[in-house]
Amino acid sequence: MNLLLVCWSFCLAVCVSGPQIQDLACVGARYIVSLPPGPSAAAEKPEWCKPLPRPEYKSLERVLATDPWFEVYKVAPGVYAIYEPHQSEEVISYLIVGHKQALLFDTGMGIANIRRVASQLTSRPIVVLNSHTHDDHVGGNWQFNFIYGMDTDFTRTNAKGSREDAQAEVASGEICGDLPKNFDSAAYQTKPWHISMFVHDGFKINLGARTLEIIATPGHTPDAISLIDRENGLLFTGDTYYPAPIWLFRPETNLDAYRQSIARLAALAPQINMVLGAHNIPVAKPDVLPRLVAAFDAVRAGKITPTPASSGKVTFKVGDITFLMRAPEPNP
Ligand SMILES: [Zn+2]
Repeated sequence: MNLLLVCWSFCLAVCVSGPQIQDLACVGARYIVSLPPGPSAAAEKPEWCKPLPRPEYKSLERVLATDPWFEVYKVAPGVYAIYEPHQSEEVISYLIVGHKQALLFDTGMGIANIRRVASQLTSRPIVVLNSHTHDDHVGGNWQFNFIYGMDTDFTRTNAKGSREDAQAEVASGEICGDLPKNFDSAAYQTKPWHISMFVHDGFKINLGARTLEIIATPGHTPDAISLIDRENGLLFTGDTYYPAPIWLFRPETNLDAYRQSIARLAALAPQINMVLGAHNIPVAKPDVLPRLVAAFDAVRAGKITPTPASSGKVTFKVGDITFLMRAPEPNP
């Protein structure tokens, strides 16, 4: 997407801080901070939320949610995108409903009550599986009784909860509109959760007349997975692909693993009808997957000129695909 947004009051704070603080401050934003425009009033609406609502949502079937923090869209039969447009991640969790049970693929920020929203969409018991365990995908895990987890140290560590990343998500410039009335920003943290069952690549979950299969797609994180509903041609890609700058700069990211994972997904493109990513916009066409591989290869072959972003990061834009990555080390 063409999203080189200038975040100003936020950026100013970021740019005057040390590198450690910069990373913390930038962790919460799924948009790109460019350096350095002019000042503006602190209270001004953040740049990232000015293009909202995104026009792509007009063609989706909206389902009324009783909680104003969430927007819910029915994107396929028995599949609901639960979108959080008031926080800069614009994270999207998916409720996938079968005849016997439903699976919630990610639980969002944990800022509002996702369990209540999901329970209003289905009367079936709900189990949880995370696309990976970054804070913006596991915030509501603690509310659920049954949670699948990948068998990685990264997953086990994150299941203990954390405060640092969560606090960055509610820093100045990260919220668009109102936080829920009873939300306490100062106390906000990712609450710990219990992993009920460890799962792995190829693991199948039968929801009743709908089977989901885990495809391990490490790279963005060691525990990143995609989820395929073969019968219905749906591929849920988490943060391995979504139509916004794809984060590949964090220390837990492994670029070689990411390349292997996206090649695996691209090979599935002929079998699927819809790609459902975890940020900004819920629906993409399968032909984006081979293009993702070509774009990533072009970046790694040095064919794409990087654009500086904040604190040691750069963006690589290849058509409608953008990667946010660590800036190359200067030559000694
Ligand atoms: Zn992530």
